[in-house]
Amino acid sequence: MTLDVAIIGGGFAGIGAAIRLKQKQIHDFALFERGTEPGGTWRDNTYPGAACDIPSRLYSYSFAPNPDWSHTYSGSAEILRYIERMVDDFGLRPFFRFGHNVDGVVWNEQTSLWEITFDNQPPVHARAVVMASGPLANVSFPAIRGLETYEGHKIHSARWDHDYDFTDKKVAVIGTGASGVQIVPELVKVAKSVKVFQRTPGWALPRTNFATRQRTKDIYRRFPQTQTLARQAWFWGHESVALGVVWNSPLTRVVEAVGKLHLRRQVKDPWLRRQLTPGFRAGCKRLLMTSDYYPALQKDNCTLVTWPIARLAPRGIRTVEGIEHHADVIVFATGFDVSKTGTPVPITGRGGRVLADEWSTGAKAYKSISVSGYPNMYFTFGPNSGPGHSSALVYMEAQIDYLVDAISHALAHDVVLDVRADRQRAYNENIQRRLQKTTWNSGCSSWYLTEDGFNATMFPGFATQYVGQLKSVDYDDYTTSAYRPSDKDAAVTATV
Ligand code: NAP
Repeated sequence: MTLDVAIIGGGFAGIGAAIRLKQKQIHDFALFERGTEPGGTWRDNTYPGAACDIPSRLYSYSFAPNPDWSHTYSGSAEILRYIERMVDDFGLRPFFRFGHNVDGVVWNEQTSLWEITFDNQPPVHARAVVMASGPLANVSFPAIRGLETYEGHKIHSARWDHDYDFTDKKVAVIGTGASGVQIVPELVKVAKSVKVFQRTPGWALPRTNFATRQRTKDIYRRFPQTQTLARQAWFWGHESVALGVVWNSPLTRVVEAVGKLHLRRQVKDPWLRRQLTPGFRAGCKRLLMTSDYYPALQKDNCTLVTWPIARLAPRGIRTVEGIEHHADVIVFATGFDVSKTGTPVPITGRGGRVLADEWSTGAKAYKSISVSGYPNMYFTFGPNSGPGHSSALVYMEAQIDYLVDAISHALAHDVVLDVRADRQRAYNENIQRRLQKTTWNSGCSSWYLTEDGFNATMFPGFATQYVGQLKSVDYDDYTTSAYRPSDKDAAVTATV
C-alpha cells in the first residue's frame, strides 16, 4: 500500500493531524495505532482521579470546540469521550489501522517514499510521515532492587487494573508527581491504609474545579464566540504565568510564595509541612495543581514515607532505615519511559543515517517539527516543544497546521522537503541558549532533562512565541527536490 500520508499514533496529535488533512482535501492517509481504540494517553490513563490540570476550554482544539465540558478541569473519561466524538464527527474511523505496532521507518531515496514496517503487519509506503506517537506512551517501572521479588499486586498509574478492588487493602503508592497526587486522594477513600513513598516533594498550587452550569453551556452553544472568548481568557491568563514558571525570575518567588501559602493553609503539622516543602525552584519539575492532595495525606489511614526505598521485598517495601512496609498492592505512579535521546521507533533517513544515533547526545529538530536528513517527516511533540505553563493542545494545534501546510505543499508541487542543516543548527543554538535562563534548567532532576542535563523537552518561551514561529512554513529553510515517480505505485514496484 502506498499512501500520501502515514500518521503514526492515534491520540490527540494524530487525530488533530487527520482532521486538518481532511479539511485540506487530503484523503489518502491512514492512522496507524498499536492499540485497539483511539485516544492515546487518555485511553491509557484511567487511574482513579485522572484529570487534566489545564482548563478544558484550553485543553481542546479550537477547531473542535466543546460547549459541554462539565467542569473547568475535566476528568480523563470526559476527555476520552471528546476525542472519540472528534473521531466520529470528522469521519476518521475508516482511516484508522488498529493493531499496527510500528517497528521501523526507513527513507528510500530511489522512490522518495518512506517505508513503514510493523511487527505484525505487511509494510506500508508513504510520501510523508507524521510521527504522532507522543512522549508519554511507554510506562516506566523504577529500577528499584527486588522489583520482581514482590509477591503482591503491582499496578502502574498508566495501565490501571480496574478489576482490582482496593477496598480494605493495604496500599503503597510510589511517586508523587502529577499522577501520584491525583491518585492518592481517591485511594484514601476506599483503602484500609495508604502509604505514600515520596522521593522529592513538588510544588503544589491550589486548583479549584467548578461545575459548568447548563445555562453557560447553552450560551456557549448558541453564541460560539463566547467560547472563543473564554478560551482566549484562559490562554492569556496562562501566558502571564509564564513569567514566573518558565523563566527563573523574581516572579518565580511569587509562584513559590503561593505554593508555600497553600501548604501552610492545608498542612498545620510543622514536621509534615517540612517534609512536603520542595527544595528546588518552582516550575523546575512540573507544578502540581491540586487542592485535595495535602488533605488526603492527613487522613487517618494515610502516611507519608520520606525514607528512601532500599528495595522491594516479597511482602512490601523496605526503606533504608530497615523498616519493611507491608502492602497488598503497590501503585507505581513513577511516570513514563521518555525517549529523551532516542526516538519512539527506529527511524532511518537519507544515506542510511539513524536518528537514534544523531540524537544520542540530545534530540534536536528545527522548530521541534522537522529534522534535517529526514525529508517529508514531521514530529508532533518533537524536541523542545513542551509547554511548562500552558496547554499542550495549543502547541499541538500549531504543529499540526504547520505540518499539514508543508505536506499539502509537497503533494501539490510533487516535491520532497528537507530542512536545511544550518537552519536547524542555528535554531537549536538559540533554543539551548534561551533554556539556560529557565526554571527547568535551574538545578533539579526531572524527565525534562537527560542524565547529562540536556533539555530536549521544553520550549523556552511564551506559547505566543511557539505558535508564532509555526504560523507559516518558510520554504527557504528547506531544500526542495523533485518527487521523482509521478506514479506512486510504479515507484514501489520499481524497488521490489
Ligand atoms: P513523573 O512526573 O515523572 O513523576 C514520577 C514520580 O515517581 C516522581 O515523584 C518521582 O520522584 C517518583 N519516582 C520515580 N522513580 C522513583 C524511584 N525509583 N523511587 C521513588 N520514587 C520514584 O510522572 P507522572 O506523575 O506520571 O507525570 C508524568 C507527566 O505526565 C507529567 O509531567 C505531565 O506532563 C503528565 N501528566 C499530566 C497530568 C495533567 O493533569 N495534565 C496528569 C498526570 C500526568 P522524583 O521526583 O524524585 O524523581
